[in-house]
Amino acid sequence: MAFDYKLCINCRACEVACKEENGILLGADKHRLWIEHPDLDAEDFKPGESVVNFMQMQCQECENAPCLEACPNEAIYRDPNGIVRLHEEKCDLTLECVKACPYNARYIDHKKRITDKCIFCADTRLARGEKTTACQASCPAKVRYFGDLDDPRSEISIILQEREYFQLKTEKGTKPRLYYLK
Ligand code: SF4
Ligand code: SF4
Repeated sequence: MAFDYKLCINCRACEVACKEENGILLGADKHRLWIEHPDLDAEDFKPGESVVNFMQMQCQECENAPCLEACPNEAIYRDPNGIVRLHEEKCDLTLECVKACPYNARYIDHKKRITDKCIFCADTRLARGEKTTACQASCPAKVRYFGDLDDPRSEISIILQEREYFQLKTEKGTKPRLYYLK
């Protein structure tokens, strides 16, 4: 996913759509995705960049995922689409993944007694063959781009060829796979 983050108007339609898609209570904070008034590390921004008002936050789908490495039960894995997923039956809430994630992307689902995070609507929309996530489809400002990075003709591949971007907390060595367009 890529974000044209400066276009965000903080309407939180994405958050509402995500919670509806995933059966999460509306008031739950930092569940799957959220909008932050950034308090990001200064090195994420270059001199002369315009001031950012709102930042879209969620699992960064790290190529080197600390959550996956930290799980003592080998419950966390990467699916064929590259999405970091959870074998729910193996999760015993030791919370090592929650502690290991530098992006605070994982939360506890008290009903299912597992840790959870954004999975790009893999079990709902993508499973039905749809091409958009709930957050992308609901965003009135066209902040969000989603698609197949292995397809050079996909909209997200093209936008990443055309625009400069940065990623978050790259100094952690996580190789995040979410992109913020400059
Ligand atoms: Fe795991 Fe956090 Fe990286 Fe997502 S952002 S893959 S939850 S370490
Ligand atoms: Fe920002 Fe779009 Fe989410 Fe509204 S729906 S808060 S504009 S990312």
